[in-house]
Amino acid sequence: MTMTRRDLIALLGAGAVAPLFAQPRPAVEQGAIIRTLLKDMPPDSINGAILFHEHLSIRYPLTKALAEKAGRPVPPSFTDDVDLMSEETKAAQTDGVGCIVDGGHPDMDRDFDALKRIAATSQVPIVASGGFYMQRNYPTDIATKSAAQLADELVRDAKAQRLGAFGEIGQQGGVLTDDEKKVFTAVGKAQAKSGLPIFTHNAYTGVRTVDPPVPMDTALKQLDVLEAAGANPRHLAIGHVCCLDDPKAQVAQQLAKRGVFVGFDRVTINVIIPDEKRVAMIVAFLDAGFADHLLLSSDFSTGRALKKNGGPGIAQTVTAFAPMLVKAGVSEATVKHILEDNPRRFLAFVPKDRG
Ligand SMILES: [Zn+2]
Ligand SMILES: [Zn+2]
Repeated sequence: MTMTRRDLIALLGAGAVAPLFAQPRPAVEQGAIIRTLLKDMPPDSINGAILFHEHLSIRYPLTKALAEKAGRPVPPSFTDDVDLMSEETKAAQTDGVGCIVDGGHPDMDRDFDALKRIAATSQVPIVASGGFYMQRNYPTDIATKSAAQLADELVRDAKAQRLGAFGEIGQQGGVLTDDEKKVFTAVGKAQAKSGLPIFTHNAYTGVRTVDPPVPMDTALKQLDVLEAAGANPRHLAIGHVCCLDDPKAQVAQQLAKRGVFVGFDRVTINVIIPDEKRVAMIVAFLDAGFADHLLLSSDFSTGRALKKNGGPGIAQTVTAFAPMLVKAGVSEATVKHILEDNPRRFLAFVPKDRG
């Protein structure tokens, strides 16, 4: 009989099995760094959880374009108040966060200067990202450029702006459009050229039904395209897998078997899928032996969640969601491994643009 982790917990009590799953901090490649906006950092110099997909500067996609098209003033976003976002970022550090990856880029109306000001004011390490969001947000000239041309531009811009990742790279529906496939290919090529990690956005709708439905294997198809372009699975995170209603986490397991990280990166967004279902999926995923492949984050994108508004704040993955995992029997050592070690390995890369 094979014992699962939960069987052991039932037998021995949660504390007794923790050492089985507490793993030493895995070494990253020699010379690898995490590229934050202000400096390159040795991965071990970051203390605390790393949130690999949040938004510190964003306007809900299309808000600006639609307003401009209609000749209306661009509606404000909660992230426009840079001083407030700096305070909230600093508060997240107090709550145990050591580094935050911003998942925005120009076609999500991310304000790059705002991000730099938040990093400088809060002194919390912030990783900025590059790339393109999804079909409806693409600049019009995407259609006329080749994947190789886009890849060269992505690598060039990443170097010029000290970007530390490509993300979030998304798709609008369940099937990649031709342009989306080209962008995924370009980003995969850019990863191979630069070493920078990639995280993606999926269109999974959780417990809500849409017509046509988003196929279960959408995440796997994203990986097919990135792999074919030469991207290194160890620096890929396929995102929003926690928005797929997949109780046994079968898609997550198929992804992990191919060596990538699986993003449970919309935790606390209960309107898509309740967190209880996310916790159950994570337990199934961990029981299958994939603790090294899980990344957690909350895709912070609503003002209601700010501390100022009585919400849990940017650290909600650590303060609100992680305790649910512990309550479900996941050891604190495993949770720490997932929050700290996994994102370090995901983000740390050996720059190929030195010398
Ligand atoms: Zn997304
Ligand atoms: Zn996002």
